[in-house]
Amino acid sequence: MSRKTPFSVMSCLLLIALLLAACGDKAPPVAPTATSATAAPTATPGAAPPSPAAAAEARAADLLARMTLAEKIGQMTQVENQSIAPADVTAYFIGSVLSGGGGQPQPNTPQAWADMVAAYQTAAGKTRLGIPLIYGIDAVHGMAALKGATIFPHAIGLGAADDPDLVARIARATAEQMVAAGIRWNFAPVVAPAQDIRWGRTYESFSEDPAIVSRLGVAYLRGLQEAEAGPVVLGTPKHFLGDGGTRWGSSATTSMGQRYMLDQGDVAVDEATLRRIHLVPYKAAVDAGALSIMVSFSSYRGEKMHGHRALLTDVLKGELGFRGFLVSDWQAIDQLPGDYHTDVVTAINAGLDMIMVPYDYKTFIAELTKAVEAGEVSQARIDDAVRRILTVKFKLGLFDRPAADPALLPKIADDAKRALAREAVRKTLVLLKNDAALPLRPDLPLILVAGQAADDTGIQAGGWSLSWQGSAGKEIPGTTLLAAAKEAAGQGRVIFNALGRFAQVTEPAPVCIVAVGEKPYAEGVGDRADLRLDEADWALLARVRPKCQKLVVVLFSGRPLVITEELPQIDALVAAWLPGTEAGGITDALFGAAPFTGKLPFTWPRANDQLPRDPSPLFPLGFGLEIR
Ligand code: BGC
Ligand code: BGC
Repeated sequence: MSRKTPFSVMSCLLLIALLLAACGDKAPPVAPTATSATAAPTATPGAAPPSPAAAAEARAADLLARMTLAEKIGQMTQVENQSIAPADVTAYFIGSVLSGGGGQPQPNTPQAWADMVAAYQTAAGKTRLGIPLIYGIDAVHGMAALKGATIFPHAIGLGAADDPDLVARIARATAEQMVAAGIRWNFAPVVAPAQDIRWGRTYESFSEDPAIVSRLGVAYLRGLQEAEAGPVVLGTPKHFLGDGGTRWGSSATTSMGQRYMLDQGDVAVDEATLRRIHLVPYKAAVDAGALSIMVSFSSYRGEKMHGHRALLTDVLKGELGFRGFLVSDWQAIDQLPGDYHTDVVTAINAGLDMIMVPYDYKTFIAELTKAVEAGEVSQARIDDAVRRILTVKFKLGLFDRPAADPALLPKIADDAKRALAREAVRKTLVLLKNDAALPLRPDLPLILVAGQAADDTGIQAGGWSLSWQGSAGKEIPGTTLLAAAKEAAGQGRVIFNALGRFAQVTEPAPVCIVAVGEKPYAEGVGDRADLRLDEADWALLARVRPKCQKLVVVLFSGRPLVITEELPQIDALVAAWLPGTEAGGITDALFGAAPFTGKLPFTWPRANDQLPRDPSPLFPLGFGLEIR
């Protein structure tokens, strides 16, 4: 893993700018089919070379001046991959394609991803101006949509580690996994300080504390966008603004047969609170070089964010000085009041620059074209949006190097990435209780392991893993807690039973390791009022307890769960969050090969009826026992 400095990307871009300036009139075409249309600006002899940002802006302005309205609107259109064939990328000048949570190619192999993205990129290259497409994906904990890729801990665990350098290295490793497939845009990091752990996206949030979110969000962004060598990836702080601050019951969305309670709901706090909690991480991200930001499905005091001109344009682009582009969320403009034509007009005029349509791009393009022709959306607004998008594409180096890096294909799960993920897992663990149970002795003769979650990479990975919602099972290649325990136990015997049925064990074993927690979910599908352990886990603990001298419980969950009643019968309790594919990091700490250092990024409630914020919590924010 190469070390990054804040200046590395700058020096890279500076080099490009210098080269272009030196080339003068003979500057290479920015895109293969568009020599004259996209030539870089010439340098005045003797003048200082333009800064990288100025060079990108000048190239974007030059290109913009040559574009038709159809070409401009195409740049503002983002389509999900299963709804568009490459030929239509050419025909409609599409600026971006994405994979949604379910947007994997078949077969789900690195090569198939690279081929799929390359086909779209080639199609973009066939347009008159050859403007490269930018492909986007939610690689929120590694490129977890790609089967076989190393999966890192979800953000909540990284909040417990609170280690910006670690976060930056994970982001850089994720960027490598993405670039292998030609994907240059990650819809991450989430910079919501989640204020209510009943929210199904709590695990995508680093912490309830805006200061932790800000420093880790910035570190993540830098890891994606700054590299000493190799292409950079565009990051996207999301979802602007207030997604983690909605009120229970305020959502009007239903998906997967479930009514959302918090997700996509309404934020009712006053403006001072909105700024103090939710705006702070965006200020930090913009100052650190955020070039795209995704707008939230949620509303602020009854007004949908996708139509909220005051917050999008006045505050974010004006007051905070955000110069990148705003992308909508998935079909989110459809939730604005009025018909679809009105939705398009409202969203673009509010400040949205690119729309994640994501399905019916023909209608979106037709409606926006009509709106411009009717003067409902000004030409200046369109130009501003397209200038922003093109400037970012130039800054990323997409024009100069749009293709994937096939040399990275074998590195989606190499030793370096697995070691990094394992290191991360160790640091994310929070030790909540330890009654002389940990660390475990390396020479234990017998360990009983129980719980389905102990032998399940799907549960370890959580949502946004191979599919949108994720799923239990072992479809994801990786190391389960059981496999890691067997390895750590050496000569000792490890007996596993998912249900904790150990009839053959007559004397209590020295140690039991029991995994309990949550099954995978994503977004509002995971909104949940009852955060107690489910009955099966309750019964499991009761069944196993008499078989153990020391009961060690490992909790896999996307948020704190209510475990007040179980706690007295547990000797050691470890919050492992959603660690991903490398559970070896858990046994490293359990067996004393690594310290326990993680601290709670969220307040841990005592009871359901005390939520959203328990005034006398079971464990406070920042709690975590240490074993060094
Ligand atoms: C997609 C996700 C998307 C979700 C929005 C799913 O079908 O796969 O990417 O976030 O819909 O509700
Ligand atoms: C989610 C976004 C995500 C998008 C694309 C939406 O449902 O809210 O976070 O980036 O889908 O998958």
